[in-house]
Amino acid sequence: MTRTPSQQPEPAEPERTATPPAGAGEAAAGGLDWTQSAQALASVAGLDIAVRVKALEELLTRKGLVDPQALDAVVDLYENRIGPRNGARVVARAWTDPAYRARLLADADAAIAELGFTGAQGENMVVLENTAEVHNVIVCTLCSCYPWPVLGLPPNWYKSMPYRSRIVREPRAVLAEFGTVLPASTEVRVWDSNSELRYMVLPRRPAGTEGLDAEALAALVTRDSMIGVAEARQPERAA
Ligand code: FE
Repeated sequence: MTRTPSQQPEPAEPERTATPPAGAGEAAAGGLDWTQSAQALASVAGLDIAVRVKALEELLTRKGLVDPQALDAVVDLYENRIGPRNGARVVARAWTDPAYRARLLADADAAIAELGFTGAQGENMVVLENTAEVHNVIVCTLCSCYPWPVLGLPPNWYKSMPYRSRIVREPRAVLAEFGTVLPASTEVRVWDSNSELRYMVLPRRPAGTEGLDAEALAALVTRDSMIGVAEARQPERAA
């Protein structure tokens, strides 16, 4: 697995006016004292977020405050285990179980929790069902709010300014860039996530999948289809 700093959970802003902790000034495990650490953080404060995160990670690692392998494990957890496959299971269940679908649309938190997916950034979920008439797509125009327990960490493009601004202004053009061209008769609705409300799209079940079981159906459900920038895969294209 490769990992870039920008794929990690968003870090808190470095504290620039913090009070030194007890014992500050003494050499820490990495050979840096508190003053040096604060200076190091201040020096990267104006840099790109990915560079800042990398600098912070290296500093904390040198000081012995974090274990890089532990960070890798956290990222692996969100990328590969608490990732979009969880959401895909939710979608596949909704496609195959009308009662579950109804519960999911009525109370997403409870229905998602039925499958064991809970945790930070998953509170106050709303699931939006795509139909022939309405296509939903999600964004966080302010930052990068995203339903971690069902989709994992947000892709970089989701956090980018162009996506956050353009999906609101010209959703059809952005969708087309993702290869999603919708009939003019389909209404496109853009939903702005925030820290108190997270959306997930329930994509349309592809035609010709009547004989597939939940596992095979889940393989058709991509992360992008649950953001709403794409539709679920057609069965012949499934891995
Ligand atoms: Fe946000």
